[in-house]
Amino acid sequence: MFKKILVANRGEIALRIQRACRELGIRAVMVYSEADREAKYVKLAEEAVCIGPAPSGLSYLNMPAIISAAEVTDAEAIHPGYGFLSENADFAERVEKSGFQFIGPTPESIRIMGDKVSAKQAMLRAGVPCVPGSEGELPDDPVQIRRIAKTVGYPVIIKAAGGGGGRGMRVVHTEAALINAVQMTKAEAGAAFGNPAVYLEKFLQNPRHVEIQIIADKHKNAVYLGERDCSMQRRHQKVLEESPAPGILRKLIERVGERCVAACKKIGYRGAGTFEFLYEDGEFYFIEMNTRVQVEHPVTEMVTGVDIVKTQIMVAAGEKLPFTQRDIVVRGHAIECRVNAEDPFKFIPSPGRVTMWHAPGGPGVRVDSHVYTNYFVPPNYDSMIGKIIVHGDTREQAMARMRTALAETVVEGINTNIPLHRELMVDAKFMAGGTNIHYLEHWLEQHKR
Ligand code: ADP
Repeated sequence: MFKKILVANRGEIALRIQRACRELGIRAVMVYSEADREAKYVKLAEEAVCIGPAPSGLSYLNMPAIISAAEVTDAEAIHPGYGFLSENADFAERVEKSGFQFIGPTPESIRIMGDKVSAKQAMLRAGVPCVPGSEGELPDDPVQIRRIAKTVGYPVIIKAAGGGGGRGMRVVHTEAALINAVQMTKAEAGAAFGNPAVYLEKFLQNPRHVEIQIIADKHKNAVYLGERDCSMQRRHQKVLEESPAPGILRKLIERVGERCVAACKKIGYRGAGTFEFLYEDGEFYFIEMNTRVQVEHPVTEMVTGVDIVKTQIMVAAGEKLPFTQRDIVVRGHAIECRVNAEDPFKFIPSPGRVTMWHAPGGPGVRVDSHVYTNYFVPPNYDSMIGKIIVHGDTREQAMARMRTALAETVVEGINTNIPLHRELMVDAKFMAGGTNIHYLEHWLEQHKR
């Protein structure tokens, strides 16, 4: 096992990784930008290194600064968390070339999955169900493009191979609009992602977002840890997540989970990863794979009892997975609400000094947050400041616990989206379960204030 790990991230996930290291008896070196000097995990750290000024381009995305921090502190491995450099294959490569273990998959796996065309091709080969569409990148010839779209059937969606964060996509309803849409998406993709390649797939009208968590070691063992329903989204950003996904047959989840595991073995995947699917009319359709730990990993931890972050570290150190598929039992129901520093209904970011922070507690309640009373939320980063996660024997109990937890939570000095979560937890459609990816946007439209 490692003696020392460098945590190349900030906020709640930096604290989460620090906690996992403590449990494993590993020293965690924390890095921070000038804006994060006061962070809780920095104050709690045995060792901490300032890697640059507030803008992330100069600190959390600054590869040489992070690698030299690992060098001067004699760390053996680097945990990238999520966001920032976590899915950057060049970073993973530089980490390993500098003699450190990257806590994540190989640079090659990151590269394949980072390009949506090659990811989809790898999944098709491995027998994972995908959205019907073009086999690979779209050709230049308009005649061929029209033929492909006709075969797939309208509406279709044009997506950039290098896209991410919900950008680089365009829905097309008629043949008349097709070629222009392809050209515009290509131009945008070239400018935004440095890769003009686009592909086409069937646009699903009312899907849910359901994803499968997997974890694999370096000894060809891979296990899936059930699914998460992340359909409650605004602008393709997840707002709350739950596990299991309401109303989906276990047999179906098992079948898709087994396919994901088979795909991991086929591509030599190691570490934690998520297969994201759209789910519609009883069918799963792969859209992309995330090659890192995700924000919503705690709901899976709550229902399976597996510590995903600890397991990531163990498998990176070369240990075998300490469980097999048969050991994984999903128990009860978990829900996570993301707490964002923003206006709850207008979504304007609300950084600043938190004059009062009171976290909820009680049975089945977990809070992952680096915030404390008097903490200053810097304006430079993502607005998420923590997560409230609950577990119950049933979905009803989990929702009741979440309502209690949200009622207990006090955050003063800044705005948060907690009032939005309070309303969603008593919304009849959400309570019934199984809402699709458009539900929250429609709800917000109807509840404008
Ligand atoms: P990104 O990497 O930018 O998040 P994804 O491929 O994960 O891109 O897609 C983001 C979102 O776009 C999905 O969660 C879904 O809401 C929508 N989307 C993507 N592909 C389709 C499709 N074929 N049909 C309907 N919606 C889609």
